[in-house]
Amino acid sequence: MKYIGAHVSASGGVETAPINAHAIGANAFALFTKNQRQWVSKPLTEESVRLFKENCRKYGFGPQQILPHDSYLINLGHPEEEGLAKSRAAFLDEMQRCEQLGLTLLNFHPGSHLKKISVEECLARIAESINLALQQTQGVTAVIENTAGQGTNLGFEFGQLRYIIDRVEDKSRVGVCLDTCHTFTAGYDFQEHYDEVFDDFDRTVGFTFLRGIHLNGSKKELGSRVDRHHSLHEGFIGDAFFERMMQDARFDNMPIILETPDESKWAEEIAWLRSVE
Ligand SMILES: [Zn+2]
Ligand SMILES: [Zn+2]
Repeated sequence: MKYIGAHVSASGGVETAPINAHAIGANAFALFTKNQRQWVSKPLTEESVRLFKENCRKYGFGPQQILPHDSYLINLGHPEEEGLAKSRAAFLDEMQRCEQLGLTLLNFHPGSHLKKISVEECLARIAESINLALQQTQGVTAVIENTAGQGTNLGFEFGQLRYIIDRVEDKSRVGVCLDTCHTFTAGYDFQEHYDEVFDDFDRTVGFTFLRGIHLNGSKKELGSRVDRHHSLHEGFIGDAFFERMMQDARFDNMPIILETPDESKWAEEIAWLRSVE
């Protein structure tokens, strides 16, 4: 079973997200549980939590179909003490919000070295940040998203994801989300070499760690290391790749989330993905 949806708006409260997802014909969704551009947000109200759970039940969204995304400000590999402490506190808050909402996954970008520490040191910090968050929470898996490798962002090579996972103590609560745009612009040519790329992923990271997919087209070329999502049927990733993914059982039973830029096309994009499944 493929769970397909989009990163929907939660404006007006998290309880609106399942309604917005249902409206576009989704059976999966992503959301921000707080304002993604602010360090601190008000706690979730009991009423909001209750309504979120009620709406999820009503529209048939289980925790395995929901992939919350953390704030863009968080850098779990921050080279400086202050930035690292702030990021770790904000990440813990994100994990706790997921606990409150009964959610089991939290998707995040691993972190950036900002040219102040080595790649290995930054990756080790990210792993330690994950360990600290997992020690203080229960039931929520930290889902590391691969990146395009723009700027000093890490996590653009499968080996870097593995390096982090190797240093996480509780392997049952760490996972990976593959973003198709990021994978492509990081240099993995899954259009020409589908089997090789996913065999490489399986050998290096392992499909057992795969918890979600961000399904995006790309405005930039293979290996450009630039993160610019495009709508489906546009950009450098062709339909044939997405069709093949939809027919690949290794992507069953996990949220497959559109983060494509034109939200007016989401219902059509979801319908198209279902039509080629
Ligand atoms: Zn993404
Ligand atoms: Zn992106």
